Amino acid sequence: MSQPELLVPAGDMEKLETALDYGADAVYLGGEGFGLRALAGNFTLDGLARARELTAAQGKKLYLTLNAYLRPGDFAPLAAYLEKLRGLDLDAYIVSDPGVLALVREVDPQREIHLSTQANTTNAGAARFWQEAGVKRVNLARELTLEEMAAVRDGCDVELEVFVHGALCVAYSGRCLLSAALAGRSANQGLCAHPCRWGYALMEETRPGEFFPVEEDGRGTYILNSRDLCLVEHLPELLRAGVNSLKIEGRMKSRYYVAAVTRVYRDALDRYLTAPETWQVDPRWRDELEKISHRPYDRGFLFGGRDPLIHAADSRYLRAHDFVGVVLEAEGGQGLVAGRNRFFAGETLELIGPEMRQISFEVGPLTGPQGETLAAGQPNGRIVMALPPDARPGDLLRRAVKAEG
Ligand code: SF4
Repeated sequence: MSQPELLVPAGDMEKLETALDYGADAVYLGGEGFGLRALAGNFTLDGLARARELTAAQGKKLYLTLNAYLRPGDFAPLAAYLEKLRGLDLDAYIVSDPGVLALVREVDPQREIHLSTQANTTNAGAARFWQEAGVKRVNLARELTLEEMAAVRDGCDVELEVFVHGALCVAYSGRCLLSAALAGRSANQGLCAHPCRWGYALMEETRPGEFFPVEEDGRGTYILNSRDLCLVEHLPELLRAGVNSLKIEGRMKSRYYVAAVTRVYRDALDRYLTAPETWQVDPRWRDELEKISHRPYDRGFLFGGRDPLIHAADSRYLRAHDFVGVVLEAEGGQGLVAGRNRFFAGETLELIGPEMRQISFEVGPLTGPQGETLAAGQPNGRIVMALPPDARPGDLLRRAVKAEG
C-alpha cells in the first residue's frame, strides 16, 4: 500500500454513505451472518452489491467481516454464502477463525483476506505464519505497544492495521466469555451483552440475596469497564512504526458518530500526509471527539506499562451534543432536513460536514414539505427550514447539551 488507509465502520447503508462522504478510504461491514455484531444493521446480498457499487465508484475499498468463531454446523451454510458472495467481488474478507480462512481459500481463492484483531496477532512470527496461510493484512492485537508494532513491522512484510478509535474490551482482544456465561450471548458469535459495563455488588455466601454495594461513585462499581481508545494525537508515531491502515471501531454506533470521528481522523491524516514535518495536534480534533457519545478517552496500551487511566470509573457515556437531523437537500440558504431528535425554532444548532466544516446558526421558522407550519422538528419528520448558505446534502445538525447521559 502506498498511502495509509483510513478504515471506517458501516453498520448500514446510511452509515456507509456517511463514511464515504466524510473521508473514509475503505469501509468494513457485516453481511447476514458469520460477522461479529449480530445486532448491527448488516447487509443483505443486494445491499452488499449496492455498497460495492458506491465504494468502487469513488475508488474506495469495501471489506466484509466474516470474523465469528464458527461451530461445526456453520461450515456448510458458510460455503453456500461464500459461493453467493463471490460474484460481488468485494475487496477483502475479514476473518479470525482458521477454519473460515481455509474455507474462503477453497471456495474463493482469489479473494483478499484480512485477519481480524480477534486472532490476537502479537508478533512477527505469527504475522508471517498468517501471511503464508494466505492473509494479506493483519489487524494487530490491541494490547501491543508502539515499540512492539514497529518490531512486528521489521519482522514481516504483511500489511498491518491497528485500531485507533473506539470501545475497548477488557479481554484478550475481545475473546471474552463473560457475556456467554452471564447472559447466554456469546461475544465470539457477535452477540455480546456488554456485561463488563454492568454494575456489580458483593454478596456474602451465607446471606444470599443481601447485596453489599462496592461503591466507586453513587451509581455503583464498574470493575471491568474500560475507557474508549483515542489515538488521533499519535497518528504520526503509528505511521512511522509501519502501520498501513488506521481502523475506527463501531459498527453499532450512530451515523453521527461515523461522521464526527471520520472527519477528525481524515483531517489529522491528510495534514500528516501533506506536511509530515510540520504536523501538530489541532485542539479541534479532541474538541470534536468530545462531542460524540463516549466513555473517557485513553491511549490503550500504546505506550506500555499499566496505564492508570485505562479503567473507567463508571459506565456513563459522556455526551456533549445531540444529533438532531440530516440535511437531505440544500440550496440558496433553504433546506430539507430529516429529523432525528426534536428541535425548535429559536434554538441554536450546529451544522457539521466533511472537511471539518462547522457553523452555528439559530433555527428559524419550521414548515413541513407541504408548507404547513410545524411547532417542532420531530424524529423521522421532514422539515423545511433555513440553513447556513454553506450547507450541503449529507451535512448533520447537532445541539449542545449540558447533561451527561
Ligand atoms: S463483555 Fe465486555 S470485554 Fe467481554 S466481549 Fe463484551 S464488551 Fe468485550
